[in-house]
Amino acid sequence: MPGRAATKLARAVPFAPSMHYLVGSEVAVNIAQRVLPVVRLLLVLALAAVVSAQKKKEAPQFRYQMPEKIEREVAKDAAGYLQWGEYKPIKCVTCEGTGKTLCATCERAPEDTPKCIECQRNKELEAVCRVCAGVGTFPDPLAKVSCPECHGAGFFLCTLCGGDGRIKTQGGGDRYGTCPMCRGDGGYKCGVCAGERLVETASLKPSLKDASSALLTKAIATTDQMLTALTAFEPAAKNSRKETKELAKILEKGKDVFPPMKRAPKALEEVMNKVYGGSAYVDYKEREANAMAVFKANCEYYLKHQKRMMELALKRAEANEKLAAENKGK
Ligand SMILES: [Zn+2]
Ligand SMILES: [Zn+2]
Ligand SMILES: [Zn+2]
Ligand SMILES: [Zn+2]
Repeated sequence: MPGRAATKLARAVPFAPSMHYLVGSEVAVNIAQRVLPVVRLLLVLALAAVVSAQKKKEAPQFRYQMPEKIEREVAKDAAGYLQWGEYKPIKCVTCEGTGKTLCATCERAPEDTPKCIECQRNKELEAVCRVCAGVGTFPDPLAKVSCPECHGAGFFLCTLCGGDGRIKTQGGGDRYGTCPMCRGDGGYKCGVCAGERLVETASLKPSLKDASSALLTKAIATTDQMLTALTAFEPAAKNSRKETKELAKILEKGKDVFPPMKRAPKALEEVMNKVYGGSAYVDYKEREANAMAVFKANCEYYLKHQKRMMELALKRAEANEKLAAENKGK
């Protein structure tokens, strides 16, 4: 890692201890002018490395598409019916099309952390972009959408250790022990997408794209009911087992419309069973409530995204049905 190498280098250079307190490069140059040319070069290089490492170290800002603003073009065919245009991929703004970001899990971990569920501590601490699933462009919103459990991460982060699989043992000073909640894994494989990050859209007949206005209206109503129930659901960090059941029940309402919602209640149960493993640690109730809140927020995004796409499909279906009825009457 350039940052660590730079620190080592700086320590090896005479006069360098003050480096730790330098802010601007001007001060560094002033000091460098007073020392030997070779040392000066080292000092400048070291500082440049520190600066670039700091710049690179910025945590990724995950910028998902706002569901309400997603558009998908339609065009009239020769007979006047609206047809979906071909999907023109939009560049992912989070990774700027590279499909990679700095690992968001490591960003919060101490430098010497040995393990990371997201990047496995690879040399660059790089992770697959959660927003575009590594593709570099947003997926076609009529075909794929971010997973309602992991929101594109592919795993559910352990809320006790925060992803590196270890926690400081009580009374153990600086010593670490294996995290009991994730058994050292840092999190759990996502039960809804099985690590795929993106999942299926609404499964309507014959498809979300071409469903009738009646089917779409019904599915939108179901989605609205789920969203209303989710808004009202606020885990209070009191009775987590009861609250988990409540949340699972809300998700289950979507099982006939959304394939991922068939898997979500069980996946939630699995996550929570792991989270209960941390009940010997302080603030465990808050941690349980927090895990539910994350699940809830990710499901809300999924549902809002789907609502938007069904609304766009409904507009098209209504126009086409109207035209078909007019043609019939002629
Ligand atoms: Zn990492
Ligand atoms: Zn991306
Ligand atoms: Zn853990
Ligand atoms: Zn997932």
